[in-house]
Amino acid sequence: MSLFERTDETKVLRDPVHGYIHIDLQIIWDMINTSWFQRLRRIRQLGGANMVYHCAEHTRFSHSLGVYEIVRRMITEVNDIRDSLNEREKTVVMLAALLHDVGHGPYSHAFEEVSATSHEVYTCRIIEEDTDVHRLMEAAASGLSREVADVIRHKSANPLLSQLISSQLDADRMDYLLRDAYFTGTTYGEFDLERILRTLRVIDNRLVVKQSGVYAVENYIMARYHMYWQVYYHPTARSYETLLHMLFKRMRDLGETGIDSLPELFAPLLKKGSISLADYFILDEASCNYGFQLLVDHSDPILRDLSVRVRDRKLFHYADSTPQFNRMMRAKLKKQGYDLNYYWGRDTVVQKPYVPYTGTGGNAVWAVMKDGSIRELSNASNIVYSLIHGPVNDDNKVYYPPEAV
Ligand code: ZN
Repeated sequence: MSLFERTDETKVLRDPVHGYIHIDLQIIWDMINTSWFQRLRRIRQLGGANMVYHCAEHTRFSHSLGVYEIVRRMITEVNDIRDSLNEREKTVVMLAALLHDVGHGPYSHAFEEVSATSHEVYTCRIIEEDTDVHRLMEAAASGLSREVADVIRHKSANPLLSQLISSQLDADRMDYLLRDAYFTGTTYGEFDLERILRTLRVIDNRLVVKQSGVYAVENYIMARYHMYWQVYYHPTARSYETLLHMLFKRMRDLGETGIDSLPELFAPLLKKGSISLADYFILDEASCNYGFQLLVDHSDPILRDLSVRVRDRKLFHYADSTPQFNRMMRAKLKKQGYDLNYYWGRDTVVQKPYVPYTGTGGNAVWAVMKDGSIRELSNASNIVYSLIHGPVNDDNKVYYPPEAV
């Protein structure tokens, strides 16, 4: 197969967010059919949020196709982008869009903490080590896998490619906001994708938005702000993630002999050292959920209890973290015999809806004004200016078993 070989006809996949996903390159079609890409069907997009929004069962598979579709539209429908890239770069950026989350583990970001490795690291390993994803790219064009990985790690010879997938106005965010809003049934995440695409331009190899598109971009920034507080940082979702964290922590604390008593699939995760791709492949949500099910009968009472809580959604309660409350609650838990290492959780979340240009690289959003001057978004939008100059939004919570109250 050559790099630019086309499929016999354009293949279309029905998608509730984009209408259709269009595929007319053979390598894209073959990539979707690799075992690593199909694995994304077994990883849901949102970690704990589906414990709050019951229809949010959508997967990394559908999100990855959505990011690909937005990038495909950018490089075919936005004249400036189409004219700035050669054919090889277009294929590279479409592959990078499709594969940008291929290294995601189960339960969204909760799992990254357990494996102590970010999903980007696994994504690049899957692209560059000996996998069906890697072999497919190298068979089409030597060096292709490296070029795709370079886009994902922002090392591409052409920085515009990375900007399309990962900046502050990128195909990744555009898809997950729309998709997560759709599947949670919230409307906060909606914004005018068509308008943003119509107003994108490329100036000096940098993605900019026309002044007339700034309102649509403001709406997108606000969508992100609302989605973070209402969906991604919902305290109930964080309570579920805290439970997962405690469950893995308990498994790890059982030590070498304890690990032998655990379901085999967890062993690579709990032993020190990096996880092989063969072991990582098996760690999806289907297998982990089965592993938790087995733990329900384990001899360790804490593991038994935590795994039942995870399985049956018997979540921890949450409260605002204050010194007085924490002191009172911790004393109560101790008195009742709870091991605070596993029954007392705490987290802090902070969200910046937009990070302005600081002069040290970064990925600000730029607008081209009617007079031709280029301004950073916070200088082109009063709303964005107010957002970044207001107080920092953070939230500190503690988590504990409800029956202890
Ligand atoms: Zn993504």
